[in-house]
Amino acid sequence: MERIKLGLVGIGKIARDQHLPALVEGSHFELTATASRNGRIDGVEAYESVQTLIAARPDIAAISLCTPPAGRFEQAMAVIAAGRHVMLEKPPAATVSEAEALTEAAREKGVTLFATWHSREAAEVDAARDWLVGKAIHAVRVTWREDIRQWHPGQDWILAPGGFGVFDPGINALSIATRILPDPLVVLSAELATPENRACPIAATIAMRSGAAPVAVDFDFLQTGHQTWDIEVDTDAGMLRLRDGGSRLELPGEAPLSGPNREYARLYTRFAELIRDDESDVDLRPLRLVADAFLTGQRTTAPAFEF
Ligand code: NAP
Repeated sequence: MERIKLGLVGIGKIARDQHLPALVEGSHFELTATASRNGRIDGVEAYESVQTLIAARPDIAAISLCTPPAGRFEQAMAVIAAGRHVMLEKPPAATVSEAEALTEAAREKGVTLFATWHSREAAEVDAARDWLVGKAIHAVRVTWREDIRQWHPGQDWILAPGGFGVFDPGINALSIATRILPDPLVVLSAELATPENRACPIAATIAMRSGAAPVAVDFDFLQTGHQTWDIEVDTDAGMLRLRDGGSRLELPGEAPLSGPNREYARLYTRFAELIRDDESDVDLRPLRLVADAFLTGQRTTAPAFEF
């Protein structure tokens, strides 16, 4: 099978840590060029912007955007207007209306738009969803606490307007919750703590509901030491614990399950399938929940934050 020529845009942490290895190992795409103001990958043709890449390489059929969400809309629109397929890092856009406009533009142009949620591809997420089918859910606790300095060193954009703050990792938890819980999630209230020198929250709690079950969400960007990416679901058959970002599953009376990290390999396989089948995959539920938390949130001021 001929590999699809792909352009990788925004050569930063996630492009290097995850996209590059997945592309090198995978058989669906050929990494043909990059676009980034500063970042380069040795041995790969480099452009400074997605627009110049598109103009110079009409043979590149697919573009994968790894830039921060604020500003990605213009890049994605340019890709779609040029008739190329586009894969978006999470969150798919800085706002719901941007994401919806991209969906519409891709549909009109007849290209594939894939809004990825890498955490949904974690090893045990599908097994967690399958186990919950048919069970009565009594309560859900989502705890996503990580160290911003460890995982996002120097990324000032993440606390700037449109950067999502603690919702940048938190939306990963919401992408899993919307995948495994059978009933829609609804935001009831939220508390958002924003450093006095920044625009986006560094910690948040959200009260939600899924069917009749209360869902308590706790996001923190200042957790040092042990890092927590856990979802617990109380059911009529005992408690499900999905740990470590979806890679470990603990079920009542069973040995824990865990699998290797194949998240980005699975995303690129899915992107190739969508292109082949002339389809798009855009699920905006996690983004809407974040928007609703911002809409309903009670604001508090946290101490100034520096990296
Ligand atoms: P990053 O390290 O800051 O890399 C993003 C790159 O995009 C930068 O290196 C920069 O390269 C380019 N860029 C273009 N416009 C920019 C702007 N206005 N501000 C800053 N950089 C800009 O960020 P990242 O961690 O890779 O995250 C990128 C996306 O991947 C985000 O949506 C994030 O949620 C997602 N993601 C991140 C992780 C993670 O662990 N870090 C995990 C999964 C997903 P140039 O200077 O060369 O243009």
